[in-house]
Amino acid sequence: MICLGIESTAHTFGAGVADSKGNILSNVKDMHCPEKGGLHPREAFEHHVEVSDAVISEAVKRAGIRLSNIGRVAFSQGPGIPPCLRVGAVIARSISKKLNIPIVGVNHCVAHLEIAKLYGKMRNPAMLYVSGGNTQVIAYDSGKYRIFGETIDIGIGNAIDKFGRFAGLLFPSGPAIEQLSKKGKTYLNLPYTVKGMDVSYGGMLTNLKQKLNSGKCNLEDICYSFQETAFAMLVEVSERALAHCGLNELILTGGVGANKRLAEMCRIMCRERGAKFYVPPTELCGDNGAMIAWNGILAEQSNDTHIKQKWRTDEVDVSWLK
Ligand code: AMP
Ligand code: MG
Repeated sequence: MICLGIESTAHTFGAGVADSKGNILSNVKDMHCPEKGGLHPREAFEHHVEVSDAVISEAVKRAGIRLSNIGRVAFSQGPGIPPCLRVGAVIARSISKKLNIPIVGVNHCVAHLEIAKLYGKMRNPAMLYVSGGNTQVIAYDSGKYRIFGETIDIGIGNAIDKFGRFAGLLFPSGPAIEQLSKKGKTYLNLPYTVKGMDVSYGGMLTNLKQKLNSGKCNLEDICYSFQETAFAMLVEVSERALAHCGLNELILTGGVGANKRLAEMCRIMCRERGAKFYVPPTELCGDNGAMIAWNGILAEQSNDTHIKQKWRTDEVDVSWLK
């Protein structure tokens, strides 16, 4: 069976094609990058409407299939920004009607995990999922992906983008902060906030802004210290999840998973514990349609096409692993 997947939860409109053997036949995306400021829901919505036709046509073309070969259409049902989610839901619904094929609503976070597991050939990993809106440490148990730790305020990617915006960098700011941090030489003290298994970035963000405003610290040192501190918190919680659950595999994914320093820190921690580590290629770490297509193959058909703005990872019935 061939599934077309549509992703539209936030800044990215993506379409991908997967088959039931786990082959990803295509993965096309177009990301909304505002020239100034952060992500505006209405502008992202307009972007998605604008590019959707071209992105979907290109995904079908690159997969080397015809529309009539598609047996199922999947879309990102949540969590996400409501106007953005609606674009994907409406388009998927119309494709499903037009081709007379089943439609499957997929949880965006679970889709990130499943595509990473597919590529990493991992069976039962702990997963560090770090993106714009989400920061979670996850492992599977008894029919659900359980969240062992998460941010209690903003996602790590959101903290990165907010600081980037304050410092006059473009959105998304992750890649620029990663480059600047390589030139940092002096470590500046920042709040390291791990509470039990949860992390918090609000206080760190305020402190970063104060440091920049003071005029006494250079941006390179601030970025370097930001990465080292924020990532150490994530590695600490991930290690505790591995130890507590008795697992020996770790996956890093989500848009912030593209950061080479974070991957390096995870790899070192895993090596020291004798655990395997995998991070997918950058185009699969960030939001993409291929992951929705693959999760659409795994998940059961449902006729519920209402968007779910706050659909949590641990609310999904992971029927395919039972
Ligand atoms: P997602 O929501 O999963 O698409 O991830 C988007 C987030 O990933 C944004 O907050 C970006 O700033 C962040 N990001 C992308 N590339 C990098 C990078 N190299 N280092 C850190 N964060 C990144
Ligand atoms: Mg995402």
